[in-house]
Amino acid sequence: MNVSKIFPQLEIPETLAAGPGPGNTDPRVLGAFTRAGLADHMQADVLRGMVECKHMLRDIWGTRNVYTFGVGGTGFSGLDCMLGAILPGDTVVAFVNGTFSGIDGLTIRIKAATREELRANALDPKPASVTIVTVPHGQSVTGEIVEQALAQHKPKWAFMAHWETGSGRINDVKGFSDACERHGAMGLVDAVSSLGIEDFSIDDYPGVVGWASCPQKGVLCLPLTYAPVSFSDRYIAEVRANGCHSYVHNPILEARHWGIVDGKDVAAGVYHRTHSGYAVAAFHEALRLTLEQGRAQKARDYGWHEAALRDAVTAMGCQVTSNMTSLVVLNLPEALAGREKELVQNCRARGFGIWPTLSEPVQVRIGILNQLSESAVRTIATRFAEAMNEIGANVDLDAISARLQQHYQTRDAAE
Ligand SMILES: *Cc1c(COP(=O)(O)O)cnc(C)c1O
Repeated sequence: MNVSKIFPQLEIPETLAAGPGPGNTDPRVLGAFTRAGLADHMQADVLRGMVECKHMLRDIWGTRNVYTFGVGGTGFSGLDCMLGAILPGDTVVAFVNGTFSGIDGLTIRIKAATREELRANALDPKPASVTIVTVPHGQSVTGEIVEQALAQHKPKWAFMAHWETGSGRINDVKGFSDACERHGAMGLVDAVSSLGIEDFSIDDYPGVVGWASCPQKGVLCLPLTYAPVSFSDRYIAEVRANGCHSYVHNPILEARHWGIVDGKDVAAGVYHRTHSGYAVAAFHEALRLTLEQGRAQKARDYGWHEAALRDAVTAMGCQVTSNMTSLVVLNLPEALAGREKELVQNCRARGFGIWPTLSEPVQVRIGILNQLSESAVRTIATRFAEAMNEIGANVDLDAISARLQQHYQTRDAAE
């Protein structure tokens, strides 16, 4: 007899999410999520909320692109929508320097593969039309690397991650855009980790026709909401002419619910699928928060707090190899090399959510998403130092505390 089992109610603890993402969702965002009433997806305030989100997103991206909206889901949902314009047989050059651009490269290979190429290796196709340029973990994709590859291959599309979270590296988006323009390639960028953290305007990069980000990093809206995307007119013309193999992730069809029809803003959205009023309310609040804090101020704050954490872990004997401002990626001191996963597991078991790298070499990643205060950075540094001491380091906690105090006093004096 088959007896179905009802499990006990699921309890999920509150942890300190100090990894590459997700960041701690702001209480204001969670409040908006739970306060929203039940209203269907065509109710006037839900539709108005989506249209307002669209306008706020244009500010946050720094763009006049009409096709700027959110794709329901996670970062990879937005990326899937953006990369959907790549059709079987299209030529693409993709730059890979870590876990996430690696997965994007796989997505691109899946989309560009012909039917035969897909059948030959269904889960990991190697289409002849796609060139993957691999840059070693821990290094950035430079403008010269992009220039050389695009000059050689002259692809229809080029792809790069703006900030590669797997290795913590910032890639040269200006060099990428310039090379795309020079060689007539349409640039596509994974901006999952940079939007809402770095102060940049996508309209300054005309070689890039498509951008995709996520709800859970700089935008701080984890309660499954929307992945921000933005597409230039050139990109949309391409999709209009050639189509893409998706209804739900079709950039033109998907935009309708956000009040974008035939390249124009319309007063209210047109049904596409059932959006959640709860998600719209949370996303709307997250965008309001981002704009209130201001892109420039937020970018400065990330830089300042990341510098404090970087200095503290360096004083503990670690070597930082990243240059992003939302996290540090580090090698443990020589004597503890090889024990990265053990250290991370010890931390995670106590609700201190740091991460190892997901691709070789194994390093430790500690993030500060929405942890922009002296006390939060102190807590992160202290808990990490304690975990190091537990596996045999000899970190002087008072010395680390004094360093942090000095760092924060400098800013107080400057202001
Ligand atoms: C986190 C991340 C992703 C994946 O985002 P999900 O929300 O997990 O789907 C993709 N690209 C980059 C650069 C990321 O940092």
